[in-house]
Amino acid sequence: MRLSRYFLPVLKETPAEAQIASHRLMLRAGMIKQATAGIYSWLPLGFKVLRKLENIVHEEQVRAGHIPMLMPTLQSADLWRESGRYDDYGAEMLRVTDRHGRDMLYGPTNEELITDIFRAHVGSYKDLPLTLYHIQWKFRDEVRPRFGVMRGREFFMKDGYNFDLTKEDALHAYNRHMVSYLRTYERMGLQAIPMRADSGPIGGDDTHEFLVLADTGESEVFYDSAITDLTLGDRVVDYNSREECEAIVREWTTPYARTDETHDEAKFNAIPEVRRKSSRGIEVGQIFYFGTKYSEPMRATVQGPDGKSVPVHMGSHGIGVSRLVGAIIEASHDDKGIIWPEGVTPYHAGIVNLKQGDPEADAACEAIYASLMALGLEPLYDDRDERAGGKFATMDLIGLPWWITVGPRGLKNGVVELTSRRTGESEELPPEQAVEKLA
Ligand code: ATP
Ligand code: MG
Ligand code: MG
Ligand code: MG
Repeated sequence: MRLSRYFLPVLKETPAEAQIASHRLMLRAGMIKQATAGIYSWLPLGFKVLRKLENIVHEEQVRAGHIPMLMPTLQSADLWRESGRYDDYGAEMLRVTDRHGRDMLYGPTNEELITDIFRAHVGSYKDLPLTLYHIQWKFRDEVRPRFGVMRGREFFMKDGYNFDLTKEDALHAYNRHMVSYLRTYERMGLQAIPMRADSGPIGGDDTHEFLVLADTGESEVFYDSAITDLTLGDRVVDYNSREECEAIVREWTTPYARTDETHDEAKFNAIPEVRRKSSRGIEVGQIFYFGTKYSEPMRATVQGPDGKSVPVHMGSHGIGVSRLVGAIIEASHDDKGIIWPEGVTPYHAGIVNLKQGDPEADAACEAIYASLMALGLEPLYDDRDERAGGKFATMDLIGLPWWITVGPRGLKNGVVELTSRRTGESEELPPEQAVEKLA
Protein backbone atom coordinates (compact mmCIF):
# COMPACT_ATOMS: atom_id res chain seq x y z
CA MET A 1 0.00 0.00 0.00
CA ARG A 2 1.17 3.49 -0.83
CA LEU A 3 0.38 6.02 1.84
CA SER A 4 -0.41 8.70 -0.77
CA ARG A 5 -3.36 6.56 -1.89
CA TYR A 6 -4.39 5.20 1.48
CA PHE A 7 -6.86 6.59 4.00
CA LEU A 8 -4.97 7.11 7.23
CA PRO A 9 -6.48 10.11 9.01
CA VAL A 10 -3.78 10.58 11.68
CA LEU A 11 -4.59 13.12 14.40
CA LYS A 12 -1.94 15.56 15.59
CA GLU A 13 -3.73 16.49 18.80
CA THR A 14 -4.36 14.07 21.61
CA PRO A 15 -8.13 13.61 21.79
CA ALA A 16 -9.39 14.95 25.11
CA GLU A 17 -12.12 12.32 25.55
CA ALA A 18 -9.70 9.37 25.62
CA GLN A 19 -8.61 8.33 29.12
CA ILE A 20 -6.33 5.40 28.36
CA ALA A 21 -3.40 4.86 26.00
CA SER A 22 -5.05 2.37 23.65
CA HIS A 23 -8.07 4.60 23.08
CA ARG A 24 -5.87 7.66 22.50
CA LEU A 25 -3.57 5.80 20.14
CA MET A 26 -6.36 4.17 18.14
CA LEU A 27 -7.93 7.59 17.56
CA ARG A 28 -4.60 9.27 16.80
CA ALA A 29 -3.48 6.50 14.43
CA GLY A 30 -6.70 6.83 12.45
CA MET A 31 -7.90 3.31 13.33
CA ILE A 32 -11.39 4.10 14.57
CA LYS A 33 -13.92 6.90 14.70
CA GLN A 34 -16.72 7.02 17.20
CA ALA A 35 -20.12 6.93 15.50
CA THR A 36 -22.03 7.42 18.74
CA ALA A 37 -21.46 6.40 22.37
CA GLY A 38 -19.85 2.93 22.42
CA ILE A 39 -20.26 2.41 18.66
CA TYR A 40 -17.32 2.78 16.30
CA SER A 41 -16.48 2.83 12.64
CA TRP A 42 -13.35 0.84 11.92
CA LEU A 43 -11.22 2.91 9.56
CA PRO A 44 -8.89 1.04 7.16
CA LEU A 45 -5.92 0.60 9.52
CA GLY A 46 -8.09 -0.50 12.45
CA PHE A 47 -10.14 -2.78 10.22
CA LYS A 48 -6.96 -4.46 8.99
CA VAL A 49 -5.89 -5.33 12.53
CA LEU A 50 -9.41 -6.49 13.42
CA ARG A 51 -9.39 -8.84 10.40
CA LYS A 52 -5.97 -10.20 11.39
CA LEU A 53 -7.24 -11.06 14.86
CA GLU A 54 -10.38 -12.59 13.41
CA ASN A 55 -8.24 -14.81 11.15
CA ILE A 56 -6.08 -16.00 14.00
CA VAL A 57 -9.19 -16.87 16.00
CA HIS A 58 -10.65 -18.77 13.04
CA GLU A 59 -7.44 -20.69 12.38
CA GLU A 60 -7.07 -21.80 15.97
CA GLN A 61 -10.73 -22.78 16.31
CA VAL A 62 -10.65 -24.85 13.15
CA ARG A 63 -7.41 -26.45 14.34
CA ALA A 64 -9.22 -27.50 17.52
CA GLY A 65 -11.94 -29.16 15.44
CA HIS A 66 -14.60 -26.49 15.93
CA ILE A 67 -16.89 -25.57 13.05
CA PRO A 68 -17.41 -22.00 11.78
CA MET A 69 -20.85 -20.66 10.84
CA LEU A 70 -22.69 -17.34 11.04
CA MET A 71 -25.77 -16.38 12.99
CA PRO A 72 -27.59 -13.05 12.60
CA THR A 73 -27.26 -10.04 14.89
CA LEU A 74 -31.04 -9.61 15.29
CA GLN A 75 -32.97 -12.29 17.11
CA SER A 76 -36.57 -12.97 18.03
CA ALA A 77 -37.50 -12.39 21.67
CA ASP A 78 -39.47 -15.67 21.69
CA LEU A 79 -36.40 -17.86 22.06
CA TRP A 80 -35.24 -15.78 25.00
CA ARG A 81 -38.65 -16.17 26.64
CA GLU A 82 -38.19 -19.94 26.38
CA SER A 83 -34.90 -19.87 28.26
CA GLY A 84 -36.26 -17.34 30.73
CA ARG A 85 -33.53 -14.83 29.94
CA TYR A 86 -35.70 -12.24 28.18
CA ASP A 87 -36.60 -10.73 31.53
CA ASP A 88 -33.40 -11.68 33.36
CA TYR A 89 -31.05 -9.94 30.98
CA GLY A 90 -32.28 -6.50 31.93
CA ALA A 91 -31.28 -3.12 30.55
CA GLU A 92 -28.12 -4.38 28.84
CA MET A 93 -30.30 -5.93 26.14
CA LEU A 94 -31.22 -3.67 23.25
CA ARG A 95 -34.83 -4.39 22.43
CA VAL A 96 -36.44 -3.49 19.13
CA THR A 97 -39.95 -3.85 17.75
CA ASP A 98 -40.50 -4.54 14.06
CA ARG A 99 -43.34 -3.05 11.97
CA HIS A 100 -45.66 -5.92 12.92
CA GLY A 101 -45.15 -5.25 16.59
CA ARG A 102 -42.94 -8.32 17.11
CA ASP A 103 -40.35 -8.14 19.86
CA MET A 104 -36.82 -8.50 18.63
CA LEU A 105 -33.41 -7.90 20.14
CA TYR A 106 -29.85 -7.26 19.02
CA GLY A 107 -28.05 -10.37 20.30
CA PRO A 108 -25.78 -9.85 23.32
CA THR A 109 -24.80 -13.55 23.04
CA ASN A 110 -26.20 -16.60 21.25
CA GLU A 111 -26.95 -19.55 23.55
CA GLU A 112 -30.66 -19.53 22.69
CA LEU A 113 -30.24 -19.18 18.94
CA ILE A 114 -27.65 -21.94 18.66
CA THR A 115 -29.69 -24.27 20.88
CA ASP A 116 -32.65 -23.71 18.57
CA ILE A 117 -30.53 -24.66 15.56
CA PHE A 118 -29.23 -27.71 17.36
CA ARG A 119 -32.62 -29.04 18.42
CA ALA A 120 -34.01 -28.58 14.91
CA HIS A 121 -31.34 -30.75 13.30
CA VAL A 122 -29.66 -33.07 15.78
CA GLY A 123 -31.46 -35.99 17.38
CA SER A 124 -28.90 -38.70 18.04
CA TYR A 125 -25.82 -39.07 20.21
CA LYS A 126 -24.12 -40.32 17.03
CA ASP A 127 -23.95 -36.72 15.78
CA LEU A 128 -21.96 -35.70 18.83
CA PRO A 129 -19.55 -34.27 19.82
CA LEU A 130 -20.34 -30.99 18.05
CA THR A 131 -18.86 -27.54 18.54
CA LEU A 132 -20.12 -24.67 16.42
CA TYR A 133 -18.90 -21.11 16.57
CA HIS A 134 -19.22 -17.77 14.84
CA ILE A 135 -17.56 -14.38 14.93
CA GLN A 136 -20.24 -11.75 14.85
CA TRP A 137 -21.14 -8.30 16.18
CA LYS A 138 -22.90 -8.21 19.54
CA PHE A 139 -24.73 -5.44 21.30
CA ARG A 140 -24.84 -4.78 25.03
CA ASP A 141 -26.22 -1.50 26.21
CA GLU A 142 -23.43 -1.01 28.75
CA VAL A 143 -24.17 1.53 31.49
CA ARG A 144 -20.78 3.10 30.98
CA PRO A 145 -19.29 2.48 27.54
CA ARG A 146 -15.71 3.70 27.79
CA PHE A 147 -12.09 3.20 26.85
CA GLY A 148 -12.94 3.10 23.15
CA VAL A 149 -13.39 -0.40 21.76
CA MET A 150 -12.51 -1.98 25.11
CA ARG A 151 -15.99 -1.45 26.47
CA GLY A 152 -18.13 -0.68 23.49
CA ARG A 153 -21.85 -1.20 23.19
CA GLU A 154 -21.49 -2.80 19.76
CA PHE A 155 -18.51 -5.16 19.76
CA PHE A 156 -17.09 -8.06 17.77
CA MET A 157 -17.03 -11.39 19.56
CA LYS A 158 -16.19 -14.97 18.78
CA ASP A 159 -18.67 -17.23 20.53
CA GLY A 160 -18.60 -21.00 20.35
CA TYR A 161 -20.96 -23.62 21.73
CA ASN A 162 -20.29 -27.27 22.42
CA PHE A 163 -22.93 -30.01 22.49
CA ASP A 164 -21.99 -33.28 24.14
CA LEU A 165 -23.65 -36.43 25.41
CA THR A 166 -21.97 -36.53 28.80
CA LYS A 167 -20.41 -34.20 31.28
CA GLU A 168 -16.99 -35.80 30.61
CA ASP A 169 -17.28 -35.08 26.89
CA ALA A 170 -18.32 -31.51 27.62
CA LEU A 171 -15.34 -31.07 29.92
CA HIS A 172 -13.08 -32.26 27.11
CA ALA A 173 -14.64 -29.53 24.96
CA TYR A 174 -13.96 -27.06 27.80
CA ASN A 175 -10.32 -28.13 27.87
CA ARG A 176 -10.01 -27.92 24.09
CA HIS A 177 -11.25 -24.37 24.29
CA MET A 178 -8.81 -23.44 27.00
CA VAL A 179 -5.87 -24.80 25.01
CA SER A 180 -6.98 -23.22 21.72
CA TYR A 181 -7.48 -19.87 23.50
CA LEU A 182 -4.01 -19.99 25.03
CA ARG A 183 -2.60 -20.57 21.57
CA THR A 184 -4.73 -17.80 20.07
CA TYR A 185 -3.52 -15.18 22.55
CA GLU A 186 0.09 -16.31 22.22
CA ARG A 187 -0.05 -15.85 18.46
CA MET A 188 -1.29 -12.32 19.10
CA GLY A 189 1.82 -11.64 21.17
CA LEU A 190 -0.21 -11.52 24.36
CA GLN A 191 0.00 -13.19 27.69
CA ALA A 192 -3.58 -13.90 28.77
CA ILE A 193 -3.82 -15.78 32.06
CA PRO A 194 -6.72 -18.17 32.65
CA MET A 195 -8.27 -17.33 36.00
CA ARG A 196 -11.04 -19.01 37.91
CA ALA A 197 -14.00 -16.67 37.65
CA ASP A 198 -17.66 -16.15 38.38
CA SER A 199 -20.23 -17.17 35.76
CA GLY A 200 -22.55 -14.12 35.80
CA PRO A 201 -25.70 -14.16 33.60
CA ILE A 202 -24.47 -17.07 31.41
CA GLY A 203 -24.73 -19.40 34.43
CA GLY A 204 -22.85 -22.59 35.26
CA ASP A 205 -20.16 -23.92 37.59
CA ASP A 206 -16.95 -24.26 35.64
CA THR A 207 -15.63 -21.08 34.17
CA HIS A 208 -12.33 -19.38 33.49
CA GLU A 209 -11.69 -15.86 32.30
CA PHE A 210 -8.57 -14.97 30.33
CA LEU A 211 -6.92 -11.81 31.56
CA VAL A 212 -4.24 -9.59 30.14
CA LEU A 213 -2.36 -7.84 32.93
CA ALA A 214 -2.57 -4.04 32.53
CA ASP A 215 -2.93 -1.15 34.95
CA THR A 216 -5.96 0.09 33.04
CA GLY A 217 -7.81 -3.24 33.33
CA GLU A 218 -11.23 -3.17 34.95
CA SER A 219 -10.79 -6.42 36.89
CA GLU A 220 -8.84 -6.97 40.06
CA VAL A 221 -6.79 -10.15 39.88
CA PHE A 222 -4.63 -12.25 42.21
CA TYR A 223 -2.09 -14.77 40.97
CA ASP A 224 1.01 -16.80 41.58
CA SER A 225 3.77 -15.29 39.39
CA ALA A 226 4.80 -18.84 38.42
CA ILE A 227 1.92 -18.83 35.95
CA THR A 228 3.51 -16.03 33.93
CA ASP A 229 6.44 -18.34 33.05
CA LEU A 230 4.21 -20.79 31.16
CA THR A 231 4.09 -20.79 27.36
CA LEU A 232 2.77 -23.22 24.77
CA GLY A 233 5.46 -22.29 22.25
CA ASP A 234 5.34 -24.57 19.23
CA ARG A 235 4.05 -27.60 21.08
CA VAL A 236 1.93 -29.72 18.79
CA VAL A 237 -1.37 -30.52 20.48
CA ASP A 238 -3.66 -33.37 19.53
CA TYR A 239 -7.02 -31.84 20.32
CA ASN A 240 -8.69 -35.24 20.13
CA SER A 241 -6.60 -36.49 23.00
CA ARG A 242 -8.34 -35.95 26.30
CA GLU A 243 -5.15 -36.63 28.20
CA GLU A 244 -3.12 -34.09 26.25
CA CYS A 245 -5.67 -31.31 26.59
CA GLU A 246 -6.23 -32.13 30.24
CA ALA A 247 -2.50 -32.07 30.97
CA ILE A 248 -2.15 -28.58 29.49
CA VAL A 249 -5.19 -27.34 31.39
CA ARG A 250 -3.75 -28.81 34.59
CA GLU A 251 -0.46 -27.04 33.94
CA TRP A 252 -2.20 -23.68 33.57
CA THR A 253 -4.72 -24.09 36.36
CA THR A 254 -2.40 -25.42 39.06
CA PRO A 255 -0.77 -22.08 39.97
CA TYR A 256 -3.20 -19.83 41.84
CA ALA A 257 -4.93 -17.30 39.55
CA ARG A 258 -8.32 -15.80 40.36
CA THR A 259 -10.37 -12.68 39.81
CA ASP A 260 -11.66 -10.81 42.86
CA GLU A 261 -15.04 -12.57 42.59
CA THR A 262 -13.57 -15.95 43.47
CA HIS A 263 -10.47 -14.79 45.33
CA ASP A 264 -9.60 -16.93 48.37
CA GLU A 265 -7.33 -15.09 50.81
CA ALA A 266 -6.26 -18.27 52.67
CA LYS A 267 -5.20 -20.10 49.51
CA PHE A 268 -3.47 -16.98 48.19
CA ASN A 269 -1.49 -16.54 51.39
CA ALA A 270 -0.19 -20.09 51.11
CA ILE A 271 1.90 -19.01 48.06
CA PRO A 272 5.47 -17.91 48.89
CA GLU A 273 5.37 -14.15 49.37
CA VAL A 274 7.71 -13.26 46.46
CA ARG A 275 5.34 -14.97 44.02
CA ARG A 276 2.13 -13.46 45.42
CA LYS A 277 0.91 -10.85 42.93
CA SER A 278 -2.16 -8.71 42.67
CA SER A 279 -2.84 -6.36 39.82
CA ARG A 280 -5.39 -5.20 37.29
CA GLY A 281 -6.45 -7.20 34.26
CA ILE A 282 -8.41 -6.88 31.01
CA GLU A 283 -10.86 -9.71 30.34
CA VAL A 284 -10.25 -10.87 26.76
CA GLY A 285 -12.18 -14.12 26.86
CA GLN A 286 -14.17 -16.53 28.97
CA ILE A 287 -15.12 -20.20 28.78
CA PHE A 288 -18.06 -21.87 30.53
CA TYR A 289 -19.36 -25.33 31.14
CA PHE A 290 -23.01 -25.05 32.11
CA GLY A 291 -24.37 -28.56 31.62
CA THR A 292 -28.07 -28.66 30.78
CA LYS A 293 -28.98 -25.09 31.77
CA TYR A 294 -30.28 -24.28 28.26
CA SER A 295 -30.85 -27.74 26.82
CA GLU A 296 -33.38 -28.65 29.52
CA PRO A 297 -35.76 -25.67 29.28
CA MET A 298 -35.33 -25.54 25.49
CA ARG A 299 -35.62 -29.32 25.11
CA ALA A 300 -32.40 -29.82 23.18
CA THR A 301 -32.17 -33.57 23.60
CA VAL A 302 -30.57 -36.49 21.81
CA GLN A 303 -31.28 -40.17 21.90
CA GLY A 304 -28.50 -41.90 23.84
CA PRO A 305 -27.03 -45.34 23.02
CA ASP A 306 -29.77 -46.92 25.17
CA GLY A 307 -32.51 -45.22 23.14
CA LYS A 308 -33.42 -42.86 25.99
CA SER A 309 -33.77 -39.17 25.29
CA VAL A 310 -31.39 -36.97 27.31
CA PRO A 311 -30.65 -33.23 27.35
CA VAL A 312 -27.19 -32.43 25.95
CA HIS A 313 -24.34 -31.03 28.02
CA MET A 314 -23.28 -27.64 26.79
CA GLY A 315 -20.73 -24.92 27.25
CA SER A 316 -20.09 -21.56 25.66
CA HIS A 317 -16.81 -19.90 24.96
CA GLY A 318 -16.15 -16.30 24.00
CA ILE A 319 -13.25 -14.16 22.81
CA GLY A 320 -13.58 -10.38 22.68
CA VAL A 321 -12.07 -9.80 19.24
CA SER A 322 -12.60 -6.02 19.06
CA ARG A 323 -11.58 -5.56 22.72
CA LEU A 324 -8.36 -7.42 21.93
CA VAL A 325 -7.24 -4.66 19.57
CA GLY A 326 -7.26 -2.29 22.55
CA ALA A 327 -5.80 -4.86 24.93
CA ILE A 328 -2.84 -5.55 22.63
CA ILE A 329 -2.10 -1.83 22.46
CA GLU A 330 -2.38 -1.48 26.26
CA ALA A 331 0.20 -4.26 26.55
CA SER A 332 2.47 -2.97 23.79
CA HIS A 333 3.05 0.76 23.30
CA ASP A 334 5.35 3.58 24.37
CA ASP A 335 4.96 7.34 24.54
CA LYS A 336 5.47 7.66 20.77
CA GLY A 337 2.81 5.21 19.73
CA ILE A 338 1.74 1.62 19.18
CA ILE A 339 4.22 -1.28 18.92
CA TRP A 340 2.47 -4.10 17.06
CA PRO A 341 3.52 -7.68 17.80
CA GLU A 342 4.59 -9.33 14.52
CA GLY A 343 1.59 -11.66 14.41
CA VAL A 344 -1.03 -8.89 14.28
CA THR A 345 0.68 -5.92 12.65
CA PRO A 346 -1.47 -4.30 9.94
CA TYR A 347 1.55 -4.07 7.61
CA HIS A 348 4.78 -6.00 7.99
CA ALA A 349 7.12 -3.09 7.35
CA GLY A 350 7.17 0.57 6.42
CA ILE A 351 9.26 2.22 3.74
CA VAL A 352 10.18 5.86 4.36
CA ASN A 353 11.37 7.85 1.38
CA LEU A 354 13.37 10.82 2.68
CA LYS A 355 13.31 12.64 -0.63
CA GLN A 356 10.21 11.93 -2.63
CA GLY A 357 10.77 12.94 -6.25
CA ASP A 358 14.49 12.17 -6.21
CA PRO A 359 14.80 9.63 -9.05
CA GLU A 360 17.28 7.39 -7.23
CA ALA A 361 15.44 7.41 -3.91
CA ASP A 362 12.11 6.77 -5.65
CA ALA A 363 13.59 3.88 -7.66
CA ALA A 364 15.21 2.31 -4.60
CA CYS A 365 11.92 2.52 -2.66
CA GLU A 366 10.01 0.96 -5.54
CA ALA A 367 12.54 -1.88 -5.72
CA ILE A 368 12.29 -2.56 -1.97
CA TYR A 369 8.50 -2.40 -2.21
CA ALA A 370 8.49 -4.98 -5.01
CA SER A 371 10.95 -7.31 -3.21
CA LEU A 372 8.91 -7.27 0.00
CA MET A 373 5.73 -8.04 -1.96
CA ALA A 374 7.53 -10.86 -3.75
CA LEU A 375 8.29 -12.36 -0.33
CA GLY A 376 4.59 -12.33 0.46
CA LEU A 377 4.95 -9.43 2.90
CA GLU A 378 2.77 -6.35 2.93
CA PRO A 379 4.75 -3.09 3.03
CA LEU A 380 3.34 0.37 3.70
CA TYR A 381 5.28 2.85 1.60
CA ASP A 382 5.27 6.45 2.82
CA ASP A 383 5.54 8.10 -0.60
CA ARG A 384 4.02 11.39 0.50
CA ASP A 385 5.81 14.65 -0.15
CA GLU A 386 6.36 15.39 3.53
CA ARG A 387 9.17 16.27 5.92
CA ALA A 388 11.21 13.36 7.25
CA GLY A 389 10.24 14.26 10.83
CA GLY A 390 6.54 13.89 10.02
CA LYS A 391 7.11 10.56 8.31
CA PHE A 392 9.05 9.17 11.28
CA ALA A 393 6.39 10.39 13.70
CA THR A 394 3.76 8.54 11.65
CA MET A 395 5.84 5.34 11.65
CA ASP A 396 6.29 5.58 15.43
CA LEU A 397 2.58 6.22 15.93
CA ILE A 398 1.20 3.41 13.76
CA GLY A 399 3.76 1.01 15.20
CA LEU A 400 4.81 -1.31 12.34
CA PRO A 401 7.54 -3.57 13.77
CA TRP A 402 10.12 -2.52 11.13
CA TRP A 403 10.75 0.24 8.69
CA ILE A 404 13.34 0.92 6.02
CA THR A 405 14.50 4.51 5.50
CA VAL A 406 15.76 5.41 2.06
CA GLY A 407 17.55 8.68 1.22
CA PRO A 408 19.94 10.04 -1.41
CA ARG A 409 22.83 10.32 1.05
CA GLY A 410 22.68 6.66 2.15
CA LEU A 411 22.18 5.46 -1.41
CA LYS A 412 25.46 7.14 -2.41
CA ASN A 413 27.15 4.70 -0.01
CA GLY A 414 24.92 1.86 -1.17
CA VAL A 415 22.92 1.62 2.08
CA VAL A 416 19.48 2.14 3.57
CA GLU A 417 18.52 2.11 7.25
CA LEU A 418 16.53 -0.67 8.91
CA THR A 419 14.80 0.41 12.14
CA SER A 420 13.14 -1.76 14.77
CA ARG A 421 10.11 -0.06 16.29
CA ARG A 422 10.43 -2.01 19.54
CA THR A 423 14.09 -1.25 20.32
CA GLY A 424 14.35 1.98 18.33
CA GLU A 425 17.68 0.70 16.99
CA SER A 426 18.72 1.24 13.38
CA GLU A 427 21.36 -0.36 11.23
CA GLU A 428 22.75 0.58 7.83
CA LEU A 429 22.60 -2.16 5.21
CA PRO A 430 22.51 -2.60 1.45
CA PRO A 431 18.83 -2.60 0.38
CA GLU A 432 18.81 -6.33 -0.49
CA GLN A 433 20.11 -7.24 2.95
CA ALA A 434 17.52 -5.07 4.66
CA VAL A 435 14.82 -6.90 2.74
CA GLU A 436 16.36 -10.28 3.60
CA LYS A 437 16.23 -9.48 7.29
CA LEU A 438 12.46 -9.10 7.07
CA ALA A 439 11.92 -12.35 5.19
P1 ATP B 1 -17.11 -7.69 31.04
O1 ATP B 1 -16.90 -8.37 32.36
O2 ATP B 1 -15.91 -6.95 30.56
O3 ATP B 1 -18.37 -6.89 30.99
P2 ATP B 1 -18.41 -10.04 30.14
O4 ATP B 1 -17.92 -10.99 31.19
O5 ATP B 1 -19.73 -9.43 30.32
O6 ATP B 1 -17.31 -8.87 29.94
P3 ATP B 1 -18.63 -12.24 28.25
O7 ATP B 1 -20.09 -12.46 28.27
O8 ATP B 1 -17.77 -13.18 29.01
O9 ATP B 1 -18.31 -10.71 28.68
O10 ATP B 1 -18.19 -12.13 26.70
C1 ATP B 1 -17.00 -12.69 26.14
C2 ATP B 1 -15.96 -11.62 25.82
O11 ATP B 1 -16.48 -10.53 25.07
C3 ATP B 1 -15.39 -10.95 27.08
O12 ATP B 1 -14.39 -11.75 27.67
C4 ATP B 1 -14.82 -9.66 26.51
O13 ATP B 1 -13.52 -9.88 26.00
C5 ATP B 1 -15.78 -9.34 25.37
N1 ATP B 1 -16.70 -8.26 25.75
C6 ATP B 1 -17.72 -8.33 26.63
N2 ATP B 1 -18.35 -7.15 26.74
C7 ATP B 1 -17.71 -6.30 25.90
C8 ATP B 1 -17.89 -4.93 25.56
N3 ATP B 1 -18.87 -4.21 26.10
N4 ATP B 1 -17.05 -4.38 24.65
C9 ATP B 1 -16.05 -5.11 24.09
N5 ATP B 1 -15.84 -6.41 24.38
C10 ATP B 1 -16.65 -7.01 25.26
MG1 MG C 1 -20.33 -7.50 30.81
MG1 MG D 1 -16.79 -10.33 32.93
MG1 MG E 1 -17.04 -12.74 30.89
